[in-house]
Amino acid sequence: MTGSSRFETLIIGAGMSGLAMAIRLQKAGLPFRIIEKANSVGGTWRENTYPGLSCDVPSYFYSYSFEPNLDWSHRFSPGPEIRDYFERVATKYDLLKHIDFGETVTGARFEEGAWTVETSGGERIRANALVDATGPLHIKNYPRIEGLDSFEGTLFHSADWDHSVDLAGKRIGVVGNGSTGVQMMAPLSEVASHLTMFQRTAQWIFPVGNKRYSDSERKWTRRLPVLAWLTRQFYKRIFDLASVGVTQEGFWRKRMAKGCREYLASVADPELRRKLTPDYEPGCKRLILSTRFYPTLAKDHVDLVSEPIERVEARGVVTADGQLHELDVLVLATGFRPHEWGIDNVVGVDGMSLKEAWAQGPRTYRSITMPGFPNYFMIVGPNSPIGNISVIDVSETQVQYILDCIQLLVGEPGRVLVPKREAAEAFQSDLREAMKGTVWVTGCTSWYLDPEGTPTLWPWSAKHFHDLMRHPVLEDFELIEPR
Ligand code: NAP
Repeated sequence: MTGSSRFETLIIGAGMSGLAMAIRLQKAGLPFRIIEKANSVGGTWRENTYPGLSCDVPSYFYSYSFEPNLDWSHRFSPGPEIRDYFERVATKYDLLKHIDFGETVTGARFEEGAWTVETSGGERIRANALVDATGPLHIKNYPRIEGLDSFEGTLFHSADWDHSVDLAGKRIGVVGNGSTGVQMMAPLSEVASHLTMFQRTAQWIFPVGNKRYSDSERKWTRRLPVLAWLTRQFYKRIFDLASVGVTQEGFWRKRMAKGCREYLASVADPELRRKLTPDYEPGCKRLILSTRFYPTLAKDHVDLVSEPIERVEARGVVTADGQLHELDVLVLATGFRPHEWGIDNVVGVDGMSLKEAWAQGPRTYRSITMPGFPNYFMIVGPNSPIGNISVIDVSETQVQYILDCIQLLVGEPGRVLVPKREAAEAFQSDLREAMKGTVWVTGCTSWYLDPEGTPTLWPWSAKHFHDLMRHPVLEDFELIEPR
């Protein structure tokens, strides 16, 4: 922090949210710096490189509203294309010079009216505002399976894909059938001699194909950018309706369930269909969009194993029925630990750490700020509508809200903003009440639930989110002037 009148913001993470925050601060003429643990931008799209990776939000909607890409290749474009998009945006806005790559934030403490942030490189940075843009899906979940270390084939987590391994002709096993496991099955089936998916809980699949845009569609979209805008509006509307479906009982929830059940009924083999049939409501876990998964499972050299995994041994996976499934490669598509929000060691006023403040599960004021943590903002924090709408839309909206908060502080050195405890408690109480009507509490386990079993999602519509995010409600905050 140079000069007392310069208000500086430190952003943690150069993924989709961190870049959006940086661009908004830059446009507002406010100084910022980004600390990024890796050596390039792109967050989840840099870390995940597994075969078949794509985004389950249509690309024309999964891109910044202010930076449309007029040339997406597919409805759900492949991961590398999305990563290229973020790299292009970072370059276009000249953000790279503001990013400290290869540095991890090891702790942050609020003291004397500002944040002191420590990095793995031993630096101590003072910042007036701290924006945590680390996102919920980056700490890998390694399953506790007996004997995992004894496997003599190749073993890796889906977010650590080992591209040096030639998969051709290999016997491949995939543990986990979330969005990640499902997406990789079709491409793996094209190279594996045998492919086995180990399923612990069946998943609902909603059939949406990944359309490739034709040359002429791409040409017309490049010529007429309004077509990209119209496509975006179309998908936004669909997601608004999906958002209603997951948060309220009624027509749209029934429609979603019908689509899933009819698609499941199309699986011809009764035994496979039985294994694929979930015992909970569609939408309770994050719905998976695919038209390739069921046909892949129907291939002769592909198996779906629904017997629980008992242990792993040198040659493969042993299931509860005593069968050894011999494998050359075992992929852990076992997801992430989303409830370890934020960076470790964030200490607010009174020496209270974020971990202590959230001992009973994450509690925020409108997903972004926390009592006791002045000038601290989270993007895509707990209870953001990540199960309802495009996460880029969530980020952009929260970024604008955070900018509005920062604008209240700029020009008044030492001024801090912190939400009132009553405001956070009222928000939490509203959340708990609204959660009762959502599909996420209808009886399943998922990464949406915190350790106490409460969904960390947004239980209202996308419209309500945008309404609440329109601008900070000043009465809900304390604006503290320096002594
Ligand atoms: P996930 O949805 O959390 O799925 C993890 C899978 O691993 C589940 O099937 C889980 O089974 C299984 N599993 C975990 N521990 C296990 C164990 N000990 N033994 C056996 N099975 C175990 O993770 P994900 O598929 O990586 O997806 C996470 C989220 O990332 C998605 O919901 C989505 O938001 C995002 N994502 C998005 C895209 C995209 O297209 N945008 C693509 C990939 C991921 P249970 O169901 O029984 O727990």
